[in-house]
Amino acid sequence: MPASRTPGDRAASGGSPSPRADGAAGRAAIVVVSRDSAIRERVHHELAWRYSTDYQIVTCDYPPGLAAQLQALRAAGTPAALVVGGVSGQDPDDIEIFAAVRPVEPTALRVAAVRWGDWVASQPVFDALTLGQVDHMAIGPEGSPDEEFHRSITEYLSEWRSRRGGGFEAVRLIGEQWSARSQELRDAFTRNQIPIGFYDVGTARGREMLEDLGLASPDLPVVVLRFAAHRSTLANPSDAEIAEAFGLLAPVSADVCDVAVVGAGPAGLAVAVYASSEGLRTVVVEPKAVGGQAATSSMIRNYPGFPQGVSGSTLTSQTFEQAWSFGTTFLFIREATSLSNHDGHYRLGLSDGNVLSARAVVIATGAAYTELGVPDLEGLHGRGVFYGAAVSEAPAMRGQTVFVAGAGNSAGQAAIHLAKWARQVTILVRGASLAQSMSDYLIRMIGALPNVDVAYGVQVAGGAGTDRLESLVLEDRASGQRRCVPADGLFVLIGSQPRTGWLGETLMRDQEGFILTGPAVQAGVATRWPLLRPPSLHESSLPGVFAAGDVRLGSVKRVGSAVGEGAVTIPQVHAFLAAQAAAGHAGVGR
Ligand SMILES: Cc1cc2nc3c(=O)[nH]c(=O)nc-3n(C[C@H](O)[C@H](O)[C@H](O)COP(=O)(O)OP(=O)(O)OC[C@H]3O[C@@H](n4cnc5c(N)ncnc54)[C@H](O)[C@@H]3O)c2cc1C
Repeated sequence: MPASRTPGDRAASGGSPSPRADGAAGRAAIVVVSRDSAIRERVHHELAWRYSTDYQIVTCDYPPGLAAQLQALRAAGTPAALVVGGVSGQDPDDIEIFAAVRPVEPTALRVAAVRWGDWVASQPVFDALTLGQVDHMAIGPEGSPDEEFHRSITEYLSEWRSRRGGGFEAVRLIGEQWSARSQELRDAFTRNQIPIGFYDVGTARGREMLEDLGLASPDLPVVVLRFAAHRSTLANPSDAEIAEAFGLLAPVSADVCDVAVVGAGPAGLAVAVYASSEGLRTVVVEPKAVGGQAATSSMIRNYPGFPQGVSGSTLTSQTFEQAWSFGTTFLFIREATSLSNHDGHYRLGLSDGNVLSARAVVIATGAAYTELGVPDLEGLHGRGVFYGAAVSEAPAMRGQTVFVAGAGNSAGQAAIHLAKWARQVTILVRGASLAQSMSDYLIRMIGALPNVDVAYGVQVAGGAGTDRLESLVLEDRASGQRRCVPADGLFVLIGSQPRTGWLGETLMRDQEGFILTGPAVQAGVATRWPLLRPPSLHESSLPGVFAAGDVRLGSVKRVGSAVGEGAVTIPQVHAFLAAQAAAGHAGVGR
């Protein structure tokens, strides 16, 4: 297995890596693996020129030796960030070369490099992406420098860094690993794409950090902001205190805005982008992180434009930036608590006592996770029992026994994500099959993962733990038989309910709370629509109050459809505002 070297290479090695004389140990590696010397050298050459200052670029010309090579790198203190395999018609090892990566380096991203135009080689790569056998595909490199190839590589390196942590920490969180508040903050920072480092006070490092901060026995968790000119240290801060320290507590203006948007999930963010880009003065109210449910998804594979998928928090935080750059005002850490009509305008009562006035309102409050309703587990929220949250908690599940309750796509995605760290993941399904509720591509991915299994006809009936979850009681739904199993984590994804309780009787909702819009408002005898013109497609029973996304009766519960509904609501808002202006503001709606 001869070593392969190319001009410009300062770090290549062959069958086994040796520590570099120039101090490469400690850096991460990019490993290029292929038997095909032309592919190997082309990929290696391009990577070495661009990345060898920050990464050790290593080649492997003997794929069966890849596992040993990754182990040797680990032993030398060099984790593999990417394993780039040249997949081509001539390469006899094909996709199989990637099978060796996960058992040694669970966080390394497996990238299949395919030649432009080699469509025959591409098809198995698409299948492997679907089955989770590779993480990404890159085209090229063709020519040098190939910026399109580098765009993919830098994106994957950035994904690896943010997954692994250990880079720049804008915020440090020091607390108890299994405290509900620590978990809540980890989740909120992760969903907002704020780079954080979490330090458990149970470890020497955590205690040392508190000592360095001069804190003997502070209220936990402690939040240290490391990006501002003056670093602030907050002991057990409230959400409002954190928002204030971040400079995010914008005052509520007394002026009447054009559109108030309630909720910053995909639907609310899309409303904000379209409304503010079209010149409407737009204010969004959001109590938690931007991105809503979508931001809890580790990988959205069905959003158009992202053939290899996109993390929910990346997609939504970029949409947030887009709305913000168009001039949307965001009111964080506040939720809408009431809606009323006053003097021709709508008034949204906010949880901090302020009132936001608007000519039109779009309600995009989406849905909240359904709770399990098992009293034994209620005290263990955040301490082994999590609703959603698979993205932020997955690394803490390393080597552990984890259960996922649910049979939908969100449960499937969570299980696949958790399987990267957990020893064993079991999906608990109440029914007899996943086919009705989960996408086929996810069922196939789950089937291909050796450490994920599915238990059918089972529900969670109880559980126990002192400091954190230790065991679950599982009930066979047919026989009623119960058994107790050891469990370190339970991720609950069993559906959701609309967040509309705050609206009371102000507008028409169905029995479950979903908001009626358009034709649904007029159907039936008990309609409360007050005008001669019919309500527009997304308009509720209150003229000028619209609903978009999961909160709307009849909506398709997808990110793409929530975004689409947000976008199409804006022409309806324009039409409403124009009619109102033509009527000389003589009251809401004409
Ligand atoms: C784990 C998971 C994975 C998923 N994966 C996929 C996928 O791969 N593909 C896909 O297409 N779909 C997926 N979905 C579904 C998708 O995320 C939702 O359909 C989508 O997020 C709905 O968007 P929304 O804006 O309507 O509502 P939400 O995303 O629920 O956002 C609503 C927002 O409103 C805020 N809010 C609530 N009440 C108030 C109030 N009173 N005042 C102010 N703000 C309020 C909430 O805090 C939240 O931020 C997934 C869902 C989950 C949970």
